Amino acid sequence: MSTSIDMELKQIKTRLIARREELNDLVSVSEESRDPVELDQTRVGRLSRMDALQNQAMSLETGRRRQAELERIEATLKRIDKGDFGYCLNCGEDIAPKRLQLDPTLPMCIDCASYAS
Ligand SMILES: [Zn+2]
Repeated sequence: MSTSIDMELKQIKTRLIARREELNDLVSVSEESRDPVELDQTRVGRLSRMDALQNQAMSLETGRRRQAELERIEATLKRIDKGDFGYCLNCGEDIAPKRLQLDPTLPMCIDCASYAS
């Protein structure tokens, strides 16, 4: 492995670990505020009750997305440690560096990814 790639991997790893910490913080914050939906009957009418429920559904969805991103980050960090990073999980070809710069957690090359979706 050349030095420049090694440097890049370190940067990607640092970036991923920072992002993981950020997500972990967000996840624990939203867990505190998730339940129960507050129902102050004196102030909150029917519409705002629906708003509250909608907000709750949205924060659940956001939480799920964050969880999925966390899992992708974990998997990517493992691939970096094993030396598998940068290779398509499906066909084993190199993933285009531009693609990885955009999102290092992408597990597949562009051909396989467009095939899968
Ligand atoms: Zn592929």
